[in-house]
Amino acid sequence: MWHTNWRERGWTRLNEPWDVIVIGGGITGAGILRLATQIGLRALLVEKRDFAWGTSSRSTKLVHGGLRYLAQGQFGVTRESVKEREQLVKQGPGLIDPLSFLVAAYEGASPSRRAFAVGLALYDGFAHRWDHRYYRGDDFLLLAPHVRKDRLLGGFRYLDAVTDDARLVLRVIREAVRAGATALNYTAVQGLLLGADDRVCGVFLRDEVSGQTVEVRAKGVINATGAWADQLRQQVGGEARVRPSRGSHLIFPAWRLPVAQAITLVHPQDRRPVFVLPWEGTTVAGTTDLDHQQPLNEEPQISRQEVDYILMALQAQFPALRLRAEDALCSFAGLRPIIGSGKGDPSKESRAHAVLEEKGLVSIAGGKLTTFRRMALDALQAMRQLLPGMPALPGNPLMLEPVPSDLLQSVAVPAEQQRRLLGRYAADCPALLETAQGGELQTIKDTPALWAELRWAAREEGVVRLEDLLLRRVRIGLLLPQGAAHIMERIRNVVQSELGWDDARWRSEVAAYQALWAKAYSAPCAGSGVVAP
Ligand code: FAD
Repeated sequence: MWHTNWRERGWTRLNEPWDVIVIGGGITGAGILRLATQIGLRALLVEKRDFAWGTSSRSTKLVHGGLRYLAQGQFGVTRESVKEREQLVKQGPGLIDPLSFLVAAYEGASPSRRAFAVGLALYDGFAHRWDHRYYRGDDFLLLAPHVRKDRLLGGFRYLDAVTDDARLVLRVIREAVRAGATALNYTAVQGLLLGADDRVCGVFLRDEVSGQTVEVRAKGVINATGAWADQLRQQVGGEARVRPSRGSHLIFPAWRLPVAQAITLVHPQDRRPVFVLPWEGTTVAGTTDLDHQQPLNEEPQISRQEVDYILMALQAQFPALRLRAEDALCSFAGLRPIIGSGKGDPSKESRAHAVLEEKGLVSIAGGKLTTFRRMALDALQAMRQLLPGMPALPGNPLMLEPVPSDLLQSVAVPAEQQRRLLGRYAADCPALLETAQGGELQTIKDTPALWAELRWAAREEGVVRLEDLLLRRVRIGLLLPQGAAHIMERIRNVVQSELGWDDARWRSEVAAYQALWAKAYSAPCAGSGVVAP
């Protein structure tokens, strides 16, 4: 689908008549593309960097209701998110899977055990099931042996779900493309085209690889650029509405921060929940929530104060583990596209999404990864006035194609790995496994990813830069020490043969990747003394 010269071929088709252009290749844009295609619209998606380059590869990876929004009285957001979680778990087994969470209750602590019990009852009520349970102290310690024991009463277990965010985006986009859509990465909208009626009628595109530019027209244009949404809105007189809030995480080797199930802990400084979850053979811990003051066109990165903040929470919850910043494998930081209302603390701002319309430009921002299906419905609903004959939207749309569970039955891969592959690669699975060369059905070091995935992604998944491959397609840049530096020679063999990069190109890609990793994905040592939320 996206092999050699696919972008060049895509660029030659840009003068086709489009019903809708979707700007932004994160989960929001992906969902809109998928739904637009499903109802028969001719849809084009353009992404300035790589698919999922923005916040949608840097989330906590949860598909969840958000227990803490209940505490803030955001019942609507939680109810909608829980319902969406239930749908997505049904639609994407192997990619969006239930995950068990534990939360410890301590004597005299806030929130109290009673408050958790009420919150979890509501949470389960929204999903029409009863999945949480309370465990007394010793039983709870069997589930979470490393938690602080002092004043421990016991704790709750409840269910949410976990995903691989970048792979979710990619699967949704690829299934839309297979159904007839067009999607181009490294294609930036530099400006909006206005018609004689002073309304948006297209975009001015720049190919970030070749420098080529072109004007493309469409009946409707949707701005799904997340934290960057105001940049385009300002071109049509929109006032700033998005309050980019940075959230950062640390990733630890699982042996250093072992958790068999996720743990929600309450930060000792500001009582915000912090998550610690098993993910792809590692343990992810975060997140923070603070106004992002740096320029939006630079890679967001964790600050020392955020490292201290996350470590403070971990040290309070797991004192015996004596975790230090040096134990982390890496970090990552993303920007929440929150719709601001002027609250002092960004953490208190609503996570609901909003659809805005200015001179025919439909913009959608806010929301969550979990609610992307609802966001797609609302964005396309807002397009109806621009496309009067637009077909009806389905009430309960499928965002992921059903995959026959016996697709890989005769393949020599363990059942759990088959499930994981089917979730991530869906209909591409048989072809992916066929590309495997000798030894490539082995996992890459102690990650769950196969070498065959790396070859497949390089060959077929629209990789333009080495960072696309190692940070978003096969996520070993986050899972292995130093961004997988010690296996670069083997990666080189795969990449050079699949992407045809000569030695000079390979060297420059590695240099760029390593510089990026050092700047935005390494884990700076803690110890500034100031602790940020
Ligand atoms: P993005 O993913 O940022 O995509 C926007 C894209 O637009 C970017 O890729 C950007 O390059 C592109 N773009 C910008 N300008 C242009 C242009 N001019 N031309 C072309 N392209 C352009 N939600 C959950 O449900 N669960 C979680 O666990 C969770 N955890 C989170 C943790 C953190 C730290 C953060 C920050 C957010 C978290 N969220 C979570 C929220 C969720 O990740 C975001 O709401 C969601 O990913 C936003 O997706 P998006 O597509 O709107 O934006």
